[in-house]
Amino acid sequence: MIRFDEVSQRYPGGHEALKQVSFELERGEMAFLTGRSGAGKSTLLKCIMRTESLSQGQILVSGRNIQRISDKQIPFYRRRIGVVFQDHQLLYDRSVYENVALPLRIDGYREADAARRVRAALDKVGLLSKEKMNPIALSGGEQQRVGIARAVVNRPQILLADEPTGNLDPELAADIMKLFEQFNQIGVSMLIASHDLALITRLRHRMLTLDNGRLIRDEQHPSRQGAG
Ligand code: ADP
Ligand code: ADP
Repeated sequence: MIRFDEVSQRYPGGHEALKQVSFELERGEMAFLTGRSGAGKSTLLKCIMRTESLSQGQILVSGRNIQRISDKQIPFYRRRIGVVFQDHQLLYDRSVYENVALPLRIDGYREADAARRVRAALDKVGLLSKEKMNPIALSGGEQQRVGIARAVVNRPQILLADEPTGNLDPELAADIMKLFEQFNQIGVSMLIASHDLALITRLRHRMLTLDNGRLIRDEQHPSRQGAG
């Protein structure tokens, strides 16, 4: 689904944030991306979104070399990938419903289709009863769920998350991870950047570890070893 071949990325100014990173995330797989602050996790996700370009190597998504996607096609490419941020990036001048509907409005969905999808997404994250509220009135965990609903409302095949539980207490963080597992179970491929080792080592997924831009470990959870 996502393949990195010897990917290096250098920021203007010279800092090399990724150094010859190679790995493959299978269709339907869920993996964590970990490593200290500054290790390159966000950069790696940005390279998948093609908001950063590579200095070396290539990234294939669904078999397609994403460097070759034309600028005109990039918005369409990005719409197939859901992204969840640490700070939700919700708009506080409109309702929960409107926040989740945003990607569908951009895509020009008809109102009836949009409504059905928005409600399906809100139902999945357990917030159907709060669709009319302003997100500012919700708790941090609920706001993150709105962010997740917005990320999946297009039914993307790939979901990326950058420190999605960074601002949440441990119990809420675990709930958010459970929610991700549910999306993964319906076939969404997931790559979740998190430095919360205590949380992610308890979950049974592959773990990719970056250190100063290098992929230094790529390990299946012990309970899954040999399970494909
Ligand atoms: P992480 O997500 O693991 O905390 P980042 O990908 O954000 O790491 O950053 C990796 C390295 O790249 C860090 O040393 C960071 O300072 C540097 N970096 C990140 N963004 C930029 C940028 N826009 N320009 C220059 N350097 C950057
Ligand atoms: P719809 O009611 O929109 O026709 P489908 O029958 O196509 O829905 O899909 C069944 C359910 O699975 C829907 O509720 C849909 O929201 C959900 N679903 C399917 N794929 C995804 C995905 N990638 N992300 C989130 N939800 C999904």
